[in-house]
Amino acid sequence: MSDEDTDGRLSPDDAFAALSDEHRVRILRVLGDAEAPLAFSELYDRLPVDDTARFNYHLDELRGHFVRKTPDGYALDYPGRRVVEAIRSGAVTEEPEIERTTVDDRCPTCENPLEIQWLDGSVEVFCPTCESRWDRSHGRVGGPGAVESGYLGRLPFPPAGLRDRTPREVLRAAHAWTNVELIAVGCGVCPRCAAAVRTELDGCRDHDDEGVCSDCRSRFAVLLRADCPNCPYRVGGAAALGLLSAPELLAFMLDHGLDPFSPRSVLRHDRVLNEYDERILSMNPLRVELTFSADGDTLSLRVDEHGDVVDVVDGPT
Ligand SMILES: [Zn+2]
Ligand SMILES: [Zn+2]
Ligand SMILES: [Zn+2]
Repeated sequence: MSDEDTDGRLSPDDAFAALSDEHRVRILRVLGDAEAPLAFSELYDRLPVDDTARFNYHLDELRGHFVRKTPDGYALDYPGRRVVEAIRSGAVTEEPEIERTTVDDRCPTCENPLEIQWLDGSVEVFCPTCESRWDRSHGRVGGPGAVESGYLGRLPFPPAGLRDRTPREVLRAAHAWTNVELIAVGCGVCPRCAAAVRTELDGCRDHDDEGVCSDCRSRFAVLLRADCPNCPYRVGGAAALGLLSAPELLAFMLDHGLDPFSPRSVLRHDRVLNEYDERILSMNPLRVELTFSADGDTLSLRVDEHGDVVDVVDGPT
């Protein structure tokens, strides 16, 4: 491998240039599938090439950055593993575009069957009879796009997650995946690149409680926003989404059998997380009180402009 930047690592341009050949990408995939390092001959036998010199040339182009030679044979380096992970997730190649499908799972609010579709990297969720939570989706390519009625939100989910799963399993797995990401965000960690993210809350001054407000385009008066300063990851939604990692809310959820990762409870967990009372206590600085309810119990959390809990209010207020 040739051009390296000053600290000895390849620049992104050179790293991607080193991958600009189908044989090299295949080498990475074969090494990614192997359970142990592969000897030169084992690797060669698993690839559709019949010219050792050419094969050696391509392997050499990958060595030192994507592939390393160990005493037991060739293996992926960390950058090579990340490339194979991205390929296997389907995120860089697949566009399944699943049409809107009825799910064998009921809306925890109205008990009607939910519907999902996969679009632009996310599972979008609809209830045909509930009110929309939003009037547009920010996950659509080309900026926010208008959505059909009954839109409950989107759950980022790589294409590989759609394989070998029923629509119901897709919906539940997408909830679990999203909750894992949101817990990272709540802890200040970008779920895609691990850089430090900061969350901000926005309060809508003249929020219209009837359906989707025309000012903030949402049913929620207080919205969460988090942008990664290092990668394109960004997330937005109801303020409560930033509280998934708050121990007070986690304990409340678990006390009521609402495990944010279990397929059995992710939908009910989502309902509690989205059907709460919100009260703006002050705009500047922003202080809001969110009251969650489950099985007749309530938990009120006061949070600041970054979505951090500043006070726990016992009982109804
Ligand atoms: Zn519903
Ligand atoms: Zn509003
Ligand atoms: Zn990031």
